[in-house]
Amino acid sequence: MKGECTLQTPQHASVDGFSAEKALFLAIACLEDRDKHMHCAQCGTRIKWESAFVSAHRMTEDCVGTGTIVQVDIPYCPQCEEKPYVRGCFHVFERQDGCATGELDFSGARIAI
Ligand SMILES: [Zn+2]
Ligand SMILES: [Zn+2]
Repeated sequence: MKGECTLQTPQHASVDGFSAEKALFLAIACLEDRDKHMHCAQCGTRIKWESAFVSAHRMTEDCVGTGTIVQVDIPYCPQCEEKPYVRGCFHVFERQDGCATGELDFSGARIAI
């Protein structure tokens, strides 16, 4: 299994970093057929999407039980990869004035935090 071609549920990751990883995974590890279905580039199995519940919280808060829960779909190959974790967390950076950014812009959905 090639580590660089797997996508895992974000753990202590920034939203931007995860978005970039997901885009990279879809570009490198997946092939799209004519019907817009994604397939694994290595074995050809149809890519599955696992819904994960990710807690988006500020850097200063604990990783457990705080923040806003965001549902994130994680693409993976059921043949080559482990099923992604159903829980993870995003770390939201605060602005220089000490306020949180206020909302997350993730996959087109705006999430107030
Ligand atoms: Zn965390
Ligand atoms: Zn595969």
